[in-house]
Amino acid sequence: MNSVVCRFCSTKLEDTVVDLGMSPLCESYLAADQLDRMEPFYPLKVWVCRKCYLVQLSEYVKVEEIFNEYAYFSSFSSAWLKHAEEYVAKMTDQLELGPKSFVVELASNDGYLLQYFVQRNIPCLGIEPAANVAKAARERGVTTEVVYFHEQTAKEMRDAGKMADLVLGNNVLAQIPDVNSFVAGLPIILKPTGTVTFEFPHLMRMLDENQFDTIYHEHFSYFSLLSVEAIFAKHGLTVFDVEELWTHGGSLRIFARHASDQSRPVSQRVLELRKREDAAGYKKIETYTRFDERVKETKRKLLELLIDAKRAGKRIAGYGAPGKGNTLLNYCGIRTDFIEFTVDRNPYKHGRFLPGTHIPIFPPEKLDELKPDYILILPWNLKDEIMAQLAHTRSWGAKFIVPIPEATLL
Ligand SMILES: [Zn+2]
Repeated sequence: MNSVVCRFCSTKLEDTVVDLGMSPLCESYLAADQLDRMEPFYPLKVWVCRKCYLVQLSEYVKVEEIFNEYAYFSSFSSAWLKHAEEYVAKMTDQLELGPKSFVVELASNDGYLLQYFVQRNIPCLGIEPAANVAKAARERGVTTEVVYFHEQTAKEMRDAGKMADLVLGNNVLAQIPDVNSFVAGLPIILKPTGTVTFEFPHLMRMLDENQFDTIYHEHFSYFSLLSVEAIFAKHGLTVFDVEELWTHGGSLRIFARHASDQSRPVSQRVLELRKREDAAGYKKIETYTRFDERVKETKRKLLELLIDAKRAGKRIAGYGAPGKGNTLLNYCGIRTDFIEFTVDRNPYKHGRFLPGTHIPIFPPEKLDELKPDYILILPWNLKDEIMAQLAHTRSWGAKFIVPIPEATLL
């Protein structure tokens, strides 16, 4: 393989954070007639840059293969909708947005967030590359352009007079292979006193809590405050505030402005988080490279648990079919030899099979029919909610396996 370079600073990459082997695209659920066909697998190897400390995957898969038709509709999650509505109320208030303002969301999905600006009569525009979700946004009354955002698109928007008071992006920054061109576009469409906000999973939470299953091909970069500040600074933007959120296992919401806009000083919260990352060793390469051994040990522990269960003649099922489950199962080599089937509440997935492992997906009632002895919870971040929902399975003696942060039997 050719040598790989940092997508931000072009330094040659030499240090591995974790190598999860070969894995299929985690959202490519298979229909029954696809099971006998060849299935593409791509490397899932994460690097860290020695110079800027950006944690990243190479662009093993072209972004168009992943995002042109996207199965994820943000509006399916009521918790996420509430999060969006609260954000809109807060920003409208803080930035005093009104009928003369203009808001742009990058990767606006099905209009899950911008609909709340529409309700308040605040002009807005969604930028969304996946045509199928953009269509859902338009049906909801949210003006949406089907296009990839980068420096050139930004110039076209500016020339068309589409300058924004607020530019936002939720869970998109990680999914951009050419992060420089994307971030360079932001100041171009931002009014002189405008605000940029982005939400993304915080690398510190991933490393601290062993969330290696949040690594998949769709996520090209994994940001700390340290690395994101460096990228924004290079493109003339200053991160002036930050919030820590519960979403996606622990996220950051950063607030940025033009570096030349002196009206808002860098907040105490930014200074405090910078200090915390520094104290945790985020400017030392070993902080990143030691992750690999912890991930391997988690695999060994989980397999031990499953092997013991099978030797004792137990039946094991899964609960949930989230994208992250596919990273975990493929990395650990867990197929139908351990997990007979999994169940999920999303009807789109019923009758389909998990990519790579070919574990079948059924409606939740299948658990009551087959009464497995063990249930492996794949969306472990929701384990309390799921164990409460499945409390009745205790009646036949079922136990739960939670794989992360450490494989545990509950
Ligand atoms: Zn770099």
